Amino acid sequence: MRQVVLATHNRHKVEEFQAIVAATRPDLQVIAYDGPEPVEDGVTFAENALIKARAAAAHTGLPALADDSGICVDVLGGAPGVFSAYWAGHAKDASANLNLLLDQLSDICDPHRTAQFVSTIALVVPGDASREEVVEGRWPGRLAAAASGEGGFGYDPVFVPDGQPAGAERSVGEWSAAEKNAASHRARAFAELAPLLAGL
Ligand code: IMP
Repeated sequence: MRQVVLATHNRHKVEEFQAIVAATRPDLQVIAYDGPEPVEDGVTFAENALIKARAAAAHTGLPALADDSGICVDVLGGAPGVFSAYWAGHAKDASANLNLLLDQLSDICDPHRTAQFVSTIALVVPGDASREEVVEGRWPGRLAAAASGEGGFGYDPVFVPDGQPAGAERSVGEWSAAEKNAASHRARAFAELAPLLAGL
């Protein structure tokens, strides 16, 4: 079986990637990277994804994938964006991040609470003709007024994706893992990436 290393220490991302990849590339085994973490000092998702994928490819010698992702709120000019993981500070406390974001938007009415989850995936294939690819997936929706549901991770309990039946909208925290993995920003980015993995 072909192996690809996923440059993240976030177990939720590993589980989501394994499920998404298994659905279309069952011959590809996604293994979690456990080497040294590089400093993510990029200011775009693409820069940070490349930093992580290059580090994992160099350390393991395997093709490496890295996802840099976050939530981009329109009324905040795209923030938290690349700062999503530590919006409320470097403790990277997911519930503090989410509560700060809800507080910042407390006076913003529903039509202006639009946001997108963004996933940028970098692929680095080491070797003589080393190869780098970057793809992006966006998942549009809105920020709920309050958190709901226990599923997923990060901002899932406050993100309500577009396209749900009126009156029955649920946050991603209330979605099953299978529902999320079929629709998410990460799944959309992977759909872009899949043809580029053909030779692996
Ligand atoms: P990264 O690991 O540096 O890419 O940070 C990603 C951060 O963005 C996470 O810590 C979450 O706060 C947020 N995020 C990214 N993807 C998701 C998702 O699928 N659900 C909820 N939050 C997400």
